[in-house]
Amino acid sequence: MNATDQKSCLSRNLAEIQENIAGACRRSGRRVDDVQLVAVTKYAPMEWVELLSSLHSVFGENRPQQLAERAALLPEAQWHLIGQLQRNKVRMAVEHAAMIHSVDSLRLLERIRDVGAQMSRRVRVLIEVNVSGEASKSGFSPDEICQAWPDILKVQKSVSIEGLMTMAPEADDPEEARPYFRQLRELTDSLRSRSAEIIAENPETPAAELPHLSMGMSGDYVVAVEEGATLVRIGSRVFQGLK
Ligand SMILES: *Cc1c(COP(=O)(O)O)cnc(C)c1O
Repeated sequence: MNATDQKSCLSRNLAEIQENIAGACRRSGRRVDDVQLVAVTKYAPMEWVELLSSLHSVFGENRPQQLAERAALLPEAQWHLIGQLQRNKVRMAVEHAAMIHSVDSLRLLERIRDVGAQMSRRVRVLIEVNVSGEASKSGFSPDEICQAWPDILKVQKSVSIEGLMTMAPEADDPEEARPYFRQLRELTDSLRSRSAEIIAENPETPAAELPHLSMGMSGDYVVAVEEGATLVRIGSRVFQGLK
């Protein structure tokens, strides 16, 4: 495949994804502008990402190292970190990522706050929730996040808590993911009420608007949008058919 063919393939894939997102928005009474595609580039060679960057500018990487390298090559794009972050890589992530989707512990969140403060940055983050409870997945359990919520709200000087992220279990039928996505949306609602209670008791506590729900991948993004996703993280579908 030459670069021209590759680019038209990418363009077709993006158009199909956007069309499916638009359909899901219509069915669920949502605005198309409220859903952002994060094109996950972790398995794509840099040449493909460069081609894609003339068509789309929001990318997701799961490793801080590769995100930093690629962000240096394409600094005008927005780079989202979607994979697990070790505490010793926080500086790299804070420097290069527009948003960190994968905050899976209070210790990590506090480290991000400290590094953000040192670098005078307000870091945009999502809290990862393991809704399905699979041992292979990281993230807070729904109970843990409710427990930790007062402490999570407190870190908000150098961190902006913008919502929740989850991954549904792998399944052949995307409908199987729906209950997990719905649970994440409902968890956001209950954390909003919890915030109101915490702030009523302690008015110093900064509020968190929680505008974002990061959920949905190549196999299940349509269902995720129907259930309220504002950020869909799609990798293989974007690059489908490319050679
Ligand atoms: C790889 C990855 C995706 C994208 O997966 P696809 O099935 O290729 O769309 C989304 N989210 C996370 C956290 C990932 O690691």
